[in-house]
Amino acid sequence: MTKDMDQIISLCKRRGFIFPSSEIYGGFAAVYDYGQLGVELANNIKRAWWKSMVQKRDDIVGLDSSIFMHPKIWEASGHVGGFSDPLTECKSCHTRSRVDHLLEEVDVFADEKMSEEEINELFSANMKKIHCPKCGNSDFSEVKSFNLLVKSNLGNFTGDWTKEPVYLRGETCQGIYVNFENVLDSSRKKLPFGIAQIGKAFRNEITARQFIFRTREFEQMEMQYFTSPDKEMEEYEKLRQVRWQYYIDLGIKEENLQWHKHENLVFYAKEAYDIEYRFPFGFKELEGVHARGNYDLTQHSKFSGQELTYTDPTTNEKFIPHIVESSVGVGRTMLAVLTDAYHEEEAPTAEEGETDKRVVLKLPFSLAPFKIAVLPLSKKEPLTDISRKIATTLRDDWMVQYDETQSIGKRYRRQDEIGTPFCVTIDFDTPEDNKVTVRHRDSMKQERVSIEDLGGYIREQK
Ligand code: ATP
Repeated sequence: MTKDMDQIISLCKRRGFIFPSSEIYGGFAAVYDYGQLGVELANNIKRAWWKSMVQKRDDIVGLDSSIFMHPKIWEASGHVGGFSDPLTECKSCHTRSRVDHLLEEVDVFADEKMSEEEINELFSANMKKIHCPKCGNSDFSEVKSFNLLVKSNLGNFTGDWTKEPVYLRGETCQGIYVNFENVLDSSRKKLPFGIAQIGKAFRNEITARQFIFRTREFEQMEMQYFTSPDKEMEEYEKLRQVRWQYYIDLGIKEENLQWHKHENLVFYAKEAYDIEYRFPFGFKELEGVHARGNYDLTQHSKFSGQELTYTDPTTNEKFIPHIVESSVGVGRTMLAVLTDAYHEEEAPTAEEGETDKRVVLKLPFSLAPFKIAVLPLSKKEPLTDISRKIATTLRDDWMVQYDETQSIGKRYRRQDEIGTPFCVTIDFDTPEDNKVTVRHRDSMKQERVSIEDLGGYIREQK
């Protein structure tokens, strides 16, 4: 089944996964809010990532560095000088677009290393084939580089703060590099080891399309792994395998994933691959897995004047550690997970012999916002009283939704749509036999389970 972006966007809004930011003020481009279900899904994604990258690893520790950092960090990292995208403006409707994206639409691929002049030439040569995504016109302004760093006036109380800005971080990994020595000294880790971090990043993205795929405020989950130069590529291969397996374990279908190798590497990179996911708009980058050489620590050494080296305790050899990294967005993972889980299918209704279409999010138990829905068949005592007690007990371990309104068929459909794996129905026999009916989301199979055994039953099934 081809997944339609509009169906996913509509479900996200309707059920409270994702809302456009500042909607009552007409919205705010490329910024989104997570609603009551979105925040649960995002937290579950972050938990799964942290479990895989930190909790289960003896060789990786966590970090939470600040969004604001010394402005020199962004000079050292190359972001002040080079963190830019080529931009053009449609002469007819004034919509701004990224030139590399417009070129991609007509199967022309810009090289990351190209100068502004070279991209301009390439763009001019292909301009007649290219159409503005908004109005279809084929006449565009000259290409200009546009820096993606977001400036702030933090700490600047006088003068022109745009000249000496403090930036909102453009990526989380810089906080990891500048804390390398702190972590090394305080954790007593030996190479190879990694530092992982989840946090907000900000980019002045030019094109605000494709829902939460590309936003101006987003969260990244990044792990930087420090190694000796001779082990870099070996660790890189291991990391690639770990990251691929992570998505399979997360329940993403393997046929919807692919590797994309970067052919034109930045000068310091050893190798770079992206894991791409089959989004409704095609295969696009979900995460980057890169071998970065010793560029990052070398730059920070140079700009800070602090030596960022490691001395091998057995050989006494001193060197600047090399880095292999994994970097992925929470929002992008969320979009991939929702796309993978979204299904529309014919399903039997509560009425004998009839079917209708159901929307079901086949999310894995670990990611589902609510794990269980507790549904009394009537709004009256004693069913509601029993149901509330069951919900209270289950809430010790899981997110539970209690719902007593409308027909049971409609309530099942509501839970299917938000991916709740189990519905527990309390019916008129329950006060007599102390049993409830457990309905499984995907198979719609129903089983009678005693209230006493319910927690154990769910733990076994998930
Ligand atoms: P793209 O080519 O899509 O702009 P990138 O190569 O600039 O991405 P990186 O800087 O490598 O991305 O960031 C690592 C990861 O962070 C990406 O794979 C993506 O999951 C996430 N990410 C980057 N930019 C954004 C954004 N604007 N919105 C949402 N997620 C993002």
